[in-house]
Amino acid sequence: MFPNELEARKQIVLYSKKVHAAGLVCATDGNLSVRLDEHHVLITPSSLRKEDMHIEAPVIIDMNGEPVGDTRRPSTEHKVHLEAYRQRPDVMAVIHAHPPKAIAFTIAEAPLDTCILPEVVVTLGSIPVAPYATPSTDDLPASMGELIRRSDAVMLARHGSVTVGLTLADAFKKLEKLEHNAEILIYARILGGAKPFSRSQLEELENLREFYSITNRTIPCSGGL
Ligand SMILES: [Zn+2]
Repeated sequence: MFPNELEARKQIVLYSKKVHAAGLVCATDGNLSVRLDEHHVLITPSSLRKEDMHIEAPVIIDMNGEPVGDTRRPSTEHKVHLEAYRQRPDVMAVIHAHPPKAIAFTIAEAPLDTCILPEVVVTLGSIPVAPYATPSTDDLPASMGELIRRSDAVMLARHGSVTVGLTLADAFKKLEKLEHNAEILIYARILGGAKPFSRSQLEELENLREFYSITNRTIPCSGGL
């Protein structure tokens, strides 16, 4: 079911401030959107800090990225959002952020798909990284199209994250977990290395998805011993 526009605006304001407060975006980086219906998306505008988001600020765009009844420009990364909605008819909300620790993994080309935490194995699985593409170009959405079809959380190399869900709360939760996972992985490496789950431990965790009827899309963790 689609949200009404006022509720979608309130949610964008709420989660813009949360994304900023959590240190998951810098300056005017990042963008949040909600699908209003089959043909329209409400998205944060260009050049506004997320902490300063207000209810009139988000812009309605069509599926070609053109503003509807508005002269303001949507976020420059609206193409990433539209690609996610095109690839995933089930998705109702998208957050593109710049989580610093997870981005550092992509710059160091250190694997971020290491499954080390039980809840991440169950809810996010193996987090894929899309190859680098220049921001704002058509190459960027193209780089992640296939991955977002398979996973609700995707990293864009040297750039940021894309998390999707049924609501902004859902997409934000995945973003927080993605960054928390990266932070713990850094600490584990400082302390001598991240020891993997055994194959049977991984299988037991992945079976929990079925037990709890978790249906979000993940790439199963293939690591372990
Ligand atoms: Zn970005």
